[in-house]
Amino acid sequence: MTDTHCPYCSLQCGMTLAPRRARGGAVLEVRARPDFPVNEGALCRKGWTAGGLRGHRERLTTPLVRDRTTGELSAVGWDEALDLVAERITELRTASGDDSVAVFGGGGLTNEKAYLLGKFARVALGTSQIDYNGRWCMSSAASAGNQAFGVDRGLPFPLSDVEQADVVVLVGSNLAETMPPAARHLDRLRERGGRLVVIDPRLTTTGERADHLLQPVPGTDLPVALGLLHLLDAAGALDEDYLAERTTGFDDVRRSVAGWWPERVERVSGIAADDLREVAALLAGSERVMVLTARGAEQHSQGTATVLAWINLALGLGMCGKPFAGYGCLTGQGNGQGGREHGQKSDQLPGYRMIDDPAARAHVAGVWGVDPDSLPGPGRSAYELLDALGADGGPRALLVHGSNIVVSAPNATQVTDRLEALDLLVVADIVMSETAALADVVLPVTQWAEESGTMTNLEGRVILREQAVAPPEGVRSDLDVIAGLASRLGCEASFPLDPEEAFAELALASAGGRADYAGITYDRIRAEQGVFWPCPDAAHPGTPRLFADAFATADGRARALVVDHAGAAEQPDADYPVHLTTGRVLAQYQSGAQTRRITDLVDEGIFVELHPMLAGRIGARDGDQVEVSTRRGALKAPARVVSTIRPDTIFVPFHWVGANRLTNDALDPMSRMPEFKVCAAAIRHVASAQRVGAS
Ligand code: SF4
Repeated sequence: MTDTHCPYCSLQCGMTLAPRRARGGAVLEVRARPDFPVNEGALCRKGWTAGGLRGHRERLTTPLVRDRTTGELSAVGWDEALDLVAERITELRTASGDDSVAVFGGGGLTNEKAYLLGKFARVALGTSQIDYNGRWCMSSAASAGNQAFGVDRGLPFPLSDVEQADVVVLVGSNLAETMPPAARHLDRLRERGGRLVVIDPRLTTTGERADHLLQPVPGTDLPVALGLLHLLDAAGALDEDYLAERTTGFDDVRRSVAGWWPERVERVSGIAADDLREVAALLAGSERVMVLTARGAEQHSQGTATVLAWINLALGLGMCGKPFAGYGCLTGQGNGQGGREHGQKSDQLPGYRMIDDPAARAHVAGVWGVDPDSLPGPGRSAYELLDALGADGGPRALLVHGSNIVVSAPNATQVTDRLEALDLLVVADIVMSETAALADVVLPVTQWAEESGTMTNLEGRVILREQAVAPPEGVRSDLDVIAGLASRLGCEASFPLDPEEAFAELALASAGGRADYAGITYDRIRAEQGVFWPCPDAAHPGTPRLFADAFATADGRARALVVDHAGAAEQPDADYPVHLTTGRVLAQYQSGAQTRRITDLVDEGIFVELHPMLAGRIGARDGDQVEVSTRRGALKAPARVVSTIRPDTIFVPFHWVGANRLTNDALDPMSRMPEFKVCAAAIRHVASAQRVGAS
C-alpha cells in the first residue's frame, strides 16, 4: 500500500494505492486518504478510476519510429530510437541553428520533469524555443498576480479558508464539477451562513449552490467587476485606510470605474442593473470577501485585464492579506502551479525567475555549471511557438512531453498543419494520443504510479506522488529520456535519473527566487502533508498564507492597475450569430488522452449544449445532430437542450477532438493566453435523433 496523490487535477487529492491480482492481470485499487487535508477522504469519479490505465491494452511499451518510405510506425529498441532523435537534432542544429529545435511541456508534468525539461532545452539544446500547455491554462491569472502582488501563487491561502469567508465570489469556475471534493467548502460556507456568488454564462452544478447567480455574456466578466467597484465606491464601502496603507494606484482605478454605472454594465454584459446592485450591497456589508477566478474569466484575449479588475475589487474592499478573504486563482492542471515555476515557460528560469534578469541567469547558470552567457533568452509563447513550426525561421523539430496538442491547442486544424510541416516530431507519452499518432518517433514513458515526483497543488502546497508499482517492461521515465538525449548530444551537465536527486537540484536552483523551494525535501513533504512555498530553508515552516504583512513588491504594497473593457476579439454577426464557449465535464480530464480510455468514464462523448429557444429557432430537439461552425472549422455532435445556458450562447466540452478546431487563437497581449472561452459561431440542425440512431 502506498500513500500518494491523484494523477489528475490541481486539487491533488490524497489517495492510497493497493496493487492486487485480479482476473485479467494486476490492478491498482484506489482508496481515498481521510488524513490528507485537501480532500479529507473524498475523491471524484476520475480519482476513483485512476488505476484504469494500469495494464491498459493501449499502453505503449516500446519506442516507435516512422519509416520515411512507407509512413508506418514500427517498433525499435530504445538505443536506436534515442540515437536517431539525437542524430536528427544534431543535423538540424548544424544546418539551421539551436532554435531550430523546440520543446513543448505540460502542466501535468512533475516539478522534477518540468525543471529538467527546461534545463535540457537551455543547456543541452541551447534553444530558446520552449513553452508548455500551462500557458493555455492559468497564465492570465499568473500575469495579473505578478503585476498586482509581485508573485503568482494560485491561492495565497489554504483551500479550507474558503469555508470561513462571509462571501465567496466565484468567477468562471465550475468547481463542483471540475474538482468535486472542493465543493464541500462551499457547502460548509453556506451552512455557516456565508453567501456564494457565482458568475458564469451557464447554470452549472456550482451555480446551483449560489445565493446570487449572474449569467453574463461570455467575455464580459471584466465590466461586471468594473460595475461592482463603481457601486462600492459610490456607496462609500471601500476600505480607505487599507488602500492608503497597502496599495498604490487606487485613485486612478477609482477614476477609471466612474463611467461604469450599472445600466451601462447591463447593456454590455446582460446582467440586470438591480442584480448587480444586490451583489454590491452584499459585498459592502461583509467583513470577509473572497474572490476566486478560474478559466472562465481567464481564457480571454483580455484575460489578464479581467483578473486585474477582480483583484482591484478585492483590494478596494481591503481583503487581500486579511484572514479568510482576498483574491485567488483556482488552477486547473495537476501541476498547473509548479509547472510554471521551474523553467519550462519560455520566459522563466527555475524558482519563478525571469530569464532576462542577469542576476537570475547568473544564479541558475551557477547551479547548472554553465556560463550565464550561454543560456538563451526568452522564446515564443506556446501558441506562437506552435504556429511557427515548420515555417520560415521557425523550429524544424519539436519534442513533446506531457501534452496532447492536437486536441488541446486553439485553432487546432492550423496547429495540426504546423506539426505535419516539421522535419522531426518526437512525442513521449503513455498511450497513442492524437499528437503521438503524428510523430516520427514515439517514446513510451512511465505514468504516475510507476514513478515518484512532486507536484504543487492549487494552494502552493508541494506534495509527493510516490511510486507504487514497477513500470511495464520497455517503458522508461521522462527523466531517462531527457538524460539519454542529453548525453547523446554531448552535453556534460548532469541530468539526474533519480527524482529525489532532481528535486534537490531544483530546490537549489530555486533558492532566493520568488518560488523558493530551498527548504523542502521529500522527507519533509511526507512528514508534513506537503509544504507550502516559499520555504527558504530547512528550519522554515513553509508559508500557507501570503500577504499578511506585505505584498511581494519592492515597496510591499499591492499595485492597483487601471484596466478597461475591450471585448472579445470576435463578436457575433450575421454569419456567426451566437457565442461559443468551451469547458469541462466531470468525467474527463484535459485532452482526455487518459480519461477517454478508462472504461468507467466513457459514458458520454462530445455534445453541444444550447437553450430551448435557440434549439427551437434551428429546429433541433434534444439528441438531434447539429453542426457548429466558426471561421476556423466545423463540428457535428448531438444537441443537449437545456434551459440553464444563455439563449445566445452554446457550449462544447473540449476533451474530445473537434472542439478546439472551432476556438479562436486571439492572444492576451500580456499572458499570451488564447481566447478559448469565447468566439462567434453558427449552429444548424443536421439530422433528427432517430435518423442519427438509424444511420
Ligand atoms: Fe483527482 Fe481532481 Fe478528482 Fe481529486 S478532484 S480525485 S485530484 S481529479
